[in-house]
Amino acid sequence: MTPTTSTPSTDTRALDAQHVLQTYKRLPIVFERGSGVRLYDDQGREYLDFLSGIGVASLGHAHPDLAHAIADQAATLLHTSNLYYHPLQSRLAARLTALTGLERAFICNSGTEANEACLKFARRYWHTKGETTRTKFVAFTHAFHGRTMGSLSLTWDEHYRAPFGPLVPGVTFAPTDDPSALDALVDHETAAIVVEPIQGEGGVRPVSPALAEAIRAACRRTGALLVADEVQSGSGRTGTFLHSRALGLEPDLVALGKALGAGVPVGAAMVSGRVAGTIAAGDHGTTYGGNLLACRAALVFLDALEGGLQSHVTAIGACLRGRLEALAATQADKVAEVRGAGLILGLDMKADATPLVGAALEQGLLINRTSTTVIRLLPPFVITEADVDRAVAVLERVVKDWRIGS
Ligand code: PLP
Repeated sequence: MTPTTSTPSTDTRALDAQHVLQTYKRLPIVFERGSGVRLYDDQGREYLDFLSGIGVASLGHAHPDLAHAIADQAATLLHTSNLYYHPLQSRLAARLTALTGLERAFICNSGTEANEACLKFARRYWHTKGETTRTKFVAFTHAFHGRTMGSLSLTWDEHYRAPFGPLVPGVTFAPTDDPSALDALVDHETAAIVVEPIQGEGGVRPVSPALAEAIRAACRRTGALLVADEVQSGSGRTGTFLHSRALGLEPDLVALGKALGAGVPVGAAMVSGRVAGTIAAGDHGTTYGGNLLACRAALVFLDALEGGLQSHVTAIGACLRGRLEALAATQADKVAEVRGAGLILGLDMKADATPLVGAALEQGLLINRTSTTVIRLLPPFVITEADVDRAVAVLERVVKDWRIGS
């Protein structure tokens, strides 16, 4: 069958229903193009994108520099494999090590892959040191680290895990709301503690200062490594490149993804010097990871971030948060709390917030619900104050009209 470039909505949805493995319940929209913070469907309808493809389209859509760089790279060289050098991977690694303070980068294709690499590198560290039974991981309640066997094993929600057991053994979950419980779970068989500085899928739940202190203490007492999963919270989204640093955490390993590629699949496992020193050639690998296309895209993103976008995220994030807190104050019977930092923000509602997503969509605003009651906002880094005004106006209307329990 010859693929067509423009397929009417009904055909797209029928073909999907017939041929695509149905792992997603999609909303009934077919997006055809984007521009900045706006997306357009096949009916020509415009949407304000405050989700950015779940935290990915950091530069918005069809960003001219990124589009030009990708086209140029495609016309030059896309892929050679990791069997050879090319000029972009080492440049990207150098930028990432400077931004994270960690000595080395392993470039891969997704957040899950970055986490898998971190888990393997943590085990490799202890194996190289001769502590071959030091293989356990401690993760946290509400954690989400991905869907492959390793990262799924550290993902908390039973709904994601239950059909796929047995998972990787030796994983325990510490409660995020009781920092004192961590101490008993971390011992000299713990390879690493794995934490999202702000849990994203788990409901935009930031690590509290008390939990950060408990993590530091447990690492100090046992020598356990610390892995920060910054796939969602990192790459500048909170106003600083790594949110773990803002919490005073000093991870040995950091997983990056999502915003880093600005729409091109890019992940990275960042590795401290002491861990990097235990990794040998052949220990890990990837065919696509760190190819020229991926590295070029990430470099364009980092150029933009360091060229003024990072301070914009801080300012516009504070503006959005202020507006959400004002909304929460006027709708205190429906909004429990505003959480997050920078441009990862959650409105925790007092009931299942699913109807709000559909109501906002009808008014041309893309948002997302996670952890049942939480409206999650992950807008592109390039949103303006006018975008904030428009999004918050829609949110105000849909929250006001919402009948709890409807
Ligand atoms: N880790 C965190 C914190 C995430 O939020 C996600 C995705 O939502 C992942 C890992 C998995 O990333 P990916 O879907 O790119 O594999």
